[in-house]
Amino acid sequence: MDCIFCDIIKKRSKAEIIFENEKVISFLDIRPVNSGHALVVSKEHFDNFLTISPESLKELIVATQFIAGAVKRAVNAEGFNIVSNNGTVAGQTIFHFHFHIIPRFKNDFHFRFDTKPYNESSLKESGKSIRQVISKYKDIFHG
Ligand code: AMP
Ligand code: ZN
Repeated sequence: MDCIFCDIIKKRSKAEIIFENEKVISFLDIRPVNSGHALVVSKEHFDNFLTISPESLKELIVATQFIAGAVKRAVNAEGFNIVSNNGTVAGQTIFHFHFHIIPRFKNDFHFRFDTKPYNESSLKESGKSIRQVISKYKDIFHG
């Protein structure tokens, strides 16, 4: 399987690596939103947020918290976004699960989802259909 992030992990491709341990690697995004924009990647290949194992996800999110603090301090950011794109429709381009750490500065750009209000019945209908799926699959959740 061709995967640029697996190639970086195996040191077959270059990257500006900022952190690495047994389970996780982090390197700078080659097309940053802002300087210091980093990616945090599980060393084991999983396609997306739904297929990564809970153990690997825990390692990844704890490393992401640590690295986000370091990025924020290093580039003097005032805040940051943690982003994960899942599926082509959501903007995912590399199908090896990762978190983006995007340092943010006052007035750097406008980042808001385009939101719309529910009407009363569609709010209840959405809640009901999601609760139905959750109750059907609750036995596989061991959080
Ligand atoms: P996503 O679009 O959420 O899947 O994020 C993939 C990110 O990986 C994009 O922001 C790309 O700029 C970045 N990217 C792609 N190839 C490389 C690479 N070789 N080294 C570093 N970042 C990369
Ligand atoms: Zn991979």
